[in-house]
Formats: sequence, C-alpha cells, structure tokens
Amino acid sequence: MKWLHERGRRGVSVGELLKAWRNGTADRLVGLSFDDGYADFAYNALPILQRYGFNATAFVLAGRLGHDNSWTAKDPQKALLTSEEVSHLAASGIEIGSHGLLHLSFPSLSRTALMEETADSRRILQEVSGQDVLGFCYPYGRLDERAVSAVQAAGYDYACAVWGTQFAGRYALRRYAMIDRYSRAHLWYMGWRYWLRWVYQGPGSGTLAAAQSWRERRMLVRMSGQTSIHSADNDLQ
Ligand SMILES: [Zn+2]
Repeated sequence: MKWLHERGRRGVSVGELLKAWRNGTADRLVGLSFDDGYADFAYNALPILQRYGFNATAFVLAGRLGHDNSWTAKDPQKALLTSEEVSHLAASGIEIGSHGLLHLSFPSLSRTALMEETADSRRILQEVSGQDVLGFCYPYGRLDERAVSAVQAAGYDYACAVWGTQFAGRYALRRYAMIDRYSRAHLWYMGWRYWLRWVYQGPGSGTLAAAQSWRERRMLVRMSGQTSIHSADNDLQ
C-alpha cells in the first residue's frame, strides 16, 4: 500500500475501478481485492488501507461466516470474518463481494449447486452487509461457460478471475496475485511485466506478448486441469 501511495496511486474497490474506467477517470487508480474473507483482513489490512485513504473489495464466503478455511488442507487454519465483522467492514466503506458459499470448484458443480453458490451467497451477503452485492470472485480462479452464465443470471455486475481465459472480460477480470512474502523487488518485477505485456508497443512487443500469453495459458492449464485455453487481450470489454 505504501509502495502504491508513494507512486501517486490510489487503491479502490473493484466496483469503483470499473465505474471510473467507464467514465474515463481510472488513471492512477488500482483495484484492490482480498479473497476468502479472513478475519485478519479487519484488523490487519483495514487499518493500513485507511491510513492511505484507500478502499478495497473483500470477497467473502457467505456459507462460512465465522468459521475457518477448512477447504484448504495445505495452508494454516485461519478464522474467517463473522457476519458482524462483514457488516462493520461494509459500514466502513469496504465493498463486499461474493466468493460463493463454501469455496467449491465451479466447473465440477451441478446447475442447482451453481445457482445456490451464486444467487444464495449474493442474497445472504446483501442482508449481512446492507449493500447491493455486485461483484463475484470464482473460487480457485476456476471458471467455465456455465460458471460465467450462473454469475450473470444471479445479477452480478462483474466477476474476478485470476488468469486470463477465453472468457476474459467483465465476468472474468484478470488479477495479479499478491502474497505476503512479496518484496518491493517483486512489485517492480510485476510492474515491468505488466508494462511489457500491456503497454509497450516497440520492437519485439508482439513476440513478448505471445510469450507471456503462452506462459499464462500453460499456468492456467496446470492450475485448472483443463486442456485448451485461449487468452483474450482486453479484460474490460
Ligand atoms: Zn479463495
């Protein structure tokens, strides 16, 4: 946050970033999102966001409020936000988005389960937060055509993925993952990679974009178990 602040950038919620992008006022804004709704978001991240006048989106699991991250065996077990804490975050201006009910992998779900994960989680979080919940975030970043349709049918305005996919756009926004061991050097490296991939137009830019796109596709195949992925070049259509 300090690094962004020092560079004249302002962290905003994903909903706010999209609105600004539509109005042509997104310059120097950075959309920040926090997945899973860990309880420490409220006492670690929120004060830092507030220190810099930043905002963010918290993607919360509506079916696990007040429980823990037992969907992942390899990570340390951590407490998740309670309903009261989500309500408090919403009152502080944090955008509450849905990460589904239980953190299930969408491509393997039945039609009914997809509907519950998207529509029921939205209804619950709207009640808890008092906000119109407009953002969704696919658990594990995994999505397919049925998942995208379910999210649209449930009334969301946008959805976040992680990697670029053939669904890249308003309902599968690409994001850069940040983890706590990242140093300033990592941030610079990611900034350069972003610039080379999306901004640089000089000699060799086509080759660089193709190499990066190949790398992203390979990573996506590895992460999702899917065999054929195409990436699109514009995330915000
Ligand atoms: Zn997650």
